[in-house]
Amino acid sequence: ILVYYNGDYVPKSEATTSVYDHGFLYGDGVFEGIRAYNGRVFKLKEHVDRLFDSAKAIAMEIPISREEMSQAILETLRKNDLSDAYIRPIVSRGVGDLGLDPRKCKTPNIFIITQEWGAMYGDLYEVGLKAVMVATRRNAPDALSPNIKSLNYLNNILAKIEANAKGGDEAIFLDSNGYICEGSGDNIFIIKNGKVYTPPTISNLKGITRATAIELLVERGYELFEENVGLFDLFTADEVFVTGTAAEAAPITKVDGRLIGDGKPGPITGEMVKAFEDITGTTGTP
Ligand code: PLP
Repeated sequence: ILVYYNGDYVPKSEATTSVYDHGFLYGDGVFEGIRAYNGRVFKLKEHVDRLFDSAKAIAMEIPISREEMSQAILETLRKNDLSDAYIRPIVSRGVGDLGLDPRKCKTPNIFIITQEWGAMYGDLYEVGLKAVMVATRRNAPDALSPNIKSLNYLNNILAKIEANAKGGDEAIFLDSNGYICEGSGDNIFIIKNGKVYTPPTISNLKGITRATAIELLVERGYELFEENVGLFDLFTADEVFVTGTAAEAAPITKVDGRLIGDGKPGPITGEMVKAFEDITGTTGTP
């Protein structure tokens, strides 16, 4: 595997940064997760735009243009001869000293890592995921905005640790107001009486797969509401599914021991899983 590193393509063992890089010391940096299907990168512009927006929000200037970033992503795929892949661009604040001040960091470091990848949940697209509610809250909008895809993913990791401890496949966060927020790495949709609800993105990541799912649902004539959803709405939903670059669209059939609907992925969820299979040309199994 060759990794893009500040303009060069180097073997992964050489794609290393200093212990003084504030990305390492403080989680000071931003990243993206992108998929390529059959040699084509899905929603490249949207991901590059979100990467630059995340950087802007933390007052970090990425030293290459959006166009150069897009080309570097495509070239990293080509150099590795990958067609179905996951791609991870990372921009860290760069090398500074042990203090917090980012002005000590001269230039951000840019890495692009890629590897072969299929949809992450294997057989679970057919049976559905068991989700658990976690005590960890997603970052509140008045703190480190959850819209920033930053290298600070500790809340998400704590959520994953809770889910693992409880035997869940995915964790669901509440936001600081107690509304349903999102999963540890995906956005959430809830269906009741044929209507679809998803939390507004003030409290969660502005998911690119979420936006695609909304388009697909609206195209199919479903009524879609971006509004606050409570635990009661989640427990009593007919169907629940999550969306994300890694997950695509995946059904949730159990939450904290309660079956969602009849405990099998429902029809609208099925349509979404299928719609993503059609877009990606792959089935759930890697
Ligand atoms: N929410 C979180 C916390 C994420 O890390 C991700 C993954 O990127 C998502 C949602 C889904 O966003 P997207 O569909 O853009 O991958």
